[in-house]
Amino acid sequence: MPSETVKLTASFKLDGSIPESLFSTYREVLGQLLDHACAKEVTSFKRLKAEKYHELRVKYSSLPSHYIYTACQMACSIYRSFRKLKRKGLVKAGKPTFKKQVIMLDDHLFSLNLEGWEASIATGDGRTTLKLLHGTYHEKFKGMRVGQAWLVKDKDGFYLKVVFSKTVEVVGSNGVAVAVDINENNVAFGSVECVRNIKTGERAIRTAYFLKRRKLQSKPRLNEKPLLAKYSGRERRRVEDIYHKAANQVIAAAKEAKASVVVMEKLKNIREKKKRIKAMNGRLNRWSFRRLQNIIEYKARLSGLTVVYLNAKNTSSLCPTCGDKISPNGYRRMRCLSCGLEEDRDVIAVKNLLQRYQTDVGASPVHPENPPMKGGGEV
Ligand SMILES: [Zn+2]
Repeated sequence: MPSETVKLTASFKLDGSIPESLFSTYREVLGQLLDHACAKEVTSFKRLKAEKYHELRVKYSSLPSHYIYTACQMACSIYRSFRKLKRKGLVKAGKPTFKKQVIMLDDHLFSLNLEGWEASIATGDGRTTLKLLHGTYHEKFKGMRVGQAWLVKDKDGFYLKVVFSKTVEVVGSNGVAVAVDINENNVAFGSVECVRNIKTGERAIRTAYFLKRRKLQSKPRLNEKPLLAKYSGRERRRVEDIYHKAANQVIAAAKEAKASVVVMEKLKNIREKKKRIKAMNGRLNRWSFRRLQNIIEYKARLSGLTVVYLNAKNTSSLCPTCGDKISPNGYRRMRCLSCGLEEDRDVIAVKNLLQRYQTDVGASPVHPENPPMKGGGEV
């Protein structure tokens, strides 16, 4: 059976802090590497390391040497993407700079203990052990391989972003697909035989928190920021929970249908495409379509399923049976005047996606070695 390596990034908030000096020293090292890479046009990690590693090791002797190593890796990739953008005329600056509080860690610089939910990180003064704040969704990482990580400082604190990987057996391509149509308040999914439509209730949650926030902001008081942050954290966790449950149902449906493929719609320009009134826009922007797709995608890939994104143009306005234009017929119902088909519009969208998959992709199956979406979605 063919296999595939699935990569996922987990973000853990650290309970505690990392010395500021580690971030400032690392930024300094990175800055010098970027200056050198830019002046000498070095794009290869090997060459950058050969030219700068020893000098920087001596200069920053209290810093564990692997930080210099990972800074070389970061400097190379930053300089390479800078050159790319420069060639396209997309940057004005003469040289790349890096201002984010991010440190790249390799396996010498950190270790994880997911039984005790702890991370040990090398600093200038030995190793420091910090508790990982985790959720139930982090449980799945316990059996996975640990790759590199990033230590990130933002306004809420310190985070450890770890890349995990797992080798999964890919379900052989059999032409059977399950399609997913995501909407603001429901998710429709299924195979040719059976389409289900589950209500997520996301709109009610979003609206309730939107009103709560607006009420708080209309009466400015002292210390309203922590309260706003608390609300947005709760809102995010409630919506995440809904997303994970919906995604689990999609995967269960795919397994039941013995499908090898999950088809979703390409959502690229959804926000620009839909011109809506301002208040509506605010809500739609917070509604994270892509987030739910990401969750469905990684769960699908962990189950050995292939994920395909297709252009969803007209999927809710054409008849899946005869291909003619269909018209609204009551609340979220559509009716085809040519063949008489009458169906829920989300069910129609799923059927059209499935059909599009059969005509566009079904003829030339996507090889598991070459999945349409590479890399890991953030979890
Ligand atoms: Zn029709």
